[in-house]
Amino acid sequence: TAVEGAYDLVVIGGGPGGYSAAFRAADLGLRVALIEHYQTLGGVCLNVGCIPSKALLHVAAIKEEAERLGAHGVSFPAPVIDIDKLRAFKDATIRKLTDGLAQMAKMRKVERITGTAQFAGSHHLLVSAGGSEQRVDFTFCIIAAGSTPVSLPFLPSDPRIVNSTGALALAAIPARMLVIGGGIIGLEMATVYSALGAKIDVVEQLDGLLAGVDRDLVSIWQKRNAHRFDRIMLATRLQSVSASEESLTATFDADQAKGDYDLILQAAGRRPNGDSLNLAAAEIRGERGFIAVDQEMRTNVPHIFAIGDIVGQPMLAHKAVHEGHVAAEVAAGHKTAFEPVVIPSVAYLDPEIAWVGVTEDSAKENGMKVKVARFPWAASGRAIANGAEYGMTKLVFSSETGRIVGGAIIGPNAGDMIGEVCLAIELGADAVDIGRTIHPHPTLGETIGMAAEVAEGSCTDLP
Ligand code: FAD
Repeated sequence: TAVEGAYDLVVIGGGPGGYSAAFRAADLGLRVALIEHYQTLGGVCLNVGCIPSKALLHVAAIKEEAERLGAHGVSFPAPVIDIDKLRAFKDATIRKLTDGLAQMAKMRKVERITGTAQFAGSHHLLVSAGGSEQRVDFTFCIIAAGSTPVSLPFLPSDPRIVNSTGALALAAIPARMLVIGGGIIGLEMATVYSALGAKIDVVEQLDGLLAGVDRDLVSIWQKRNAHRFDRIMLATRLQSVSASEESLTATFDADQAKGDYDLILQAAGRRPNGDSLNLAAAEIRGERGFIAVDQEMRTNVPHIFAIGDIVGQPMLAHKAVHEGHVAAEVAAGHKTAFEPVVIPSVAYLDPEIAWVGVTEDSAKENGMKVKVARFPWAASGRAIANGAEYGMTKLVFSSETGRIVGGAIIGPNAGDMIGEVCLAIELGADAVDIGRTIHPHPTLGETIGMAAEVAEGSCTDLP
């Protein structure tokens, strides 16, 4: 029921989940307010996440590709890196997008409120900014307050110890850098800094990099990236860091190893921002900052929804956007639910790795009966022409139904290509559907069709 004098919908957080929800709700005719702590919209993803990291990774990839061209007979002089210009390019990229969001909010008459929101009851929030407080009443609310990097409590407070936000600020190029955490964010930043000239060590407490990715793909990536790293310390824990004027000295538990660094990046995970919202005032149930939701994205309080990183893994922007649309549509009275069959993941490394659904390794671990079809890019004309014959496209089919249930790709543009695998899974395609779909030749995307033909047992032609 509508609350008198209140916004139809108030969204807390202006990240991908929050702005997508606010825009969809406004398009559906609701009177919407969007509360964001910072002056700009876009949240982590646009300001200090997906977009700035990809702007820097783009530059890093071109630099490395230019160096590789030496083997094909084209050499360039050593690159000169102007870090101020590089930072300006990254900042301009962010600004274009965040300005665009501000414009879109205005066009839709979404009211923007800048400040930090906390619940003060089941139908109202208090928003504080610059010492003053404002009460905001709502009929429906969507919590899209996102997540924050985890900080290791035993690390000293030192400007040379940064999280992903600090690393993306690109203050200087360190000579020696330690990356704590061998997941996507840590390795993406390692790729950037290594291209800029830093010598990198990685420490990871698990016994492999990139948890969730098939080990054969990780080993292809590791071989191609061996030059970037001095040491990759697996199954190893960072024990302590001591700071002196010259450097940061890290000690690891394995063999009492040590290392001296100019920059340490903490990329050991992210935690949800639920603890700072005073959820109890609206009787919303949360656990360790996460908020539980149903398929309509409703919390235990039916007129309050939650979406994005704050509802749990995978913490990815495309998941937040889709959840935001569902929450907004349900609030507007539509019958809909968040029920994707799969959510893809991409590590935007050099080369890229993308995967979705059931992986070969997870099928083995869970005793699931699957048929795995591999298409090595050494048999793809386009991959050879592009110097990418190390790549691989892998499709996973259910042995019971014959339908595709997963896929994984390593190679340039893997992230762009995995969308086709997602669509095939969502539509319940089998190997014949994918293999008989005519893919353009010569493309890297063609390897998806060819992997399907491998599954059919009929891959013969067209390298
Ligand atoms: P967020 O983007 O975290 O936004 C939440 C917003 O809420 C923030 O702006 C915050 O200021 C605001 N807020 C919080 N509490 C309050 C409050 N009480 N009052 C007012 N405002 C509040 N994902 C991908 O899919 N692809 C990628 O390539 C990718 N790369 C990444 C790279 C890095 C370095 C990082 C850190 C993350 C990356 N991610 C990537 C993850 C992605 O950024 C997140 O999944 C996504 O931003 C989550 O969106 P969200 O809307 O849930 O929250």
